[in-house]
Amino acid sequence: MKTEVLGVRFDDLSLEEMVHTAASLIEAGGFHYAVTPNPEFILSARDNEAFREVLNQADLSMPDGIGVIYASRILGRPLKGRVPGIDFASGLIAWAARTGRRLFLLGSKPGIAELAAASLRGQYPGLTVCGTHDGYFKEDAPVVSAIQEAQADVVLVGLGAPKQELWMAQNGPATGAKFMIGLGGALDVFAGVTQRAPERWQKMGMEWCYRLIHDPKRISRMAKLPLVLVQAAGQRVRGK
Ligand code: UDP
Repeated sequence: MKTEVLGVRFDDLSLEEMVHTAASLIEAGGFHYAVTPNPEFILSARDNEAFREVLNQADLSMPDGIGVIYASRILGRPLKGRVPGIDFASGLIAWAARTGRRLFLLGSKPGIAELAAASLRGQYPGLTVCGTHDGYFKEDAPVVSAIQEAQADVVLVGLGAPKQELWMAQNGPATGAKFMIGLGGALDVFAGVTQRAPERWQKMGMEWCYRLIHDPKRISRMAKLPLVLVQAAGQRVRGK
């Protein structure tokens, strides 16, 4: 059962449960995809029906932002806790390395996915990164073919939202991959070109603040985010 927060559905699972569920989906065969909505996704999905549908049809949806957790509490249906997409991806990569599943990295500027692949191979002995592709392509077909030819099981997709979610839903089944996840800028982190907040900031739910300090251009994106809490309070007051 999914928990709805302002029109977007979430799975109320811990990080370990999310990884376990993804592993079961991959073992079951067929194509599946996961999404990592944060408050920015929720606001954008309100005006973008195609994006909302793709988010809500995902096999796995994890709350990737402390604002989603606060909004769920305000609405009176609290989610267990934040599951950052990048932490989920690390768990899934470890599982792929253990079980011999093949990983493909799609997204970011040219050269970044290759750097991420080298770093992940070093971190997870036995991992097969079967292919990479940058995220600035004009046509989908060659990318679909590249994933198919690489015989990828799992694809990490970092094209930014909503592009990555729409891309996975539209092109995923034709690639032959079993599982895709939209991860925003995570490949840049795996490649070591951007840094995540230190763990104590993450634990305090202040990762957003750390990112803002290091990339002040994000201010216009972030200024809208408290709106999610205001909308949640409004919905609660109206008793919906
Ligand atoms: N990106 C891409 N293709 C595009 C637009 C963006 O590969 O056409 C990549 C970009 O290089 C970066 C990531 O998408 O790696 C940024 O996504 P987003 O801003 O959603 O990530 P966040 O920083 O919020 O995790």
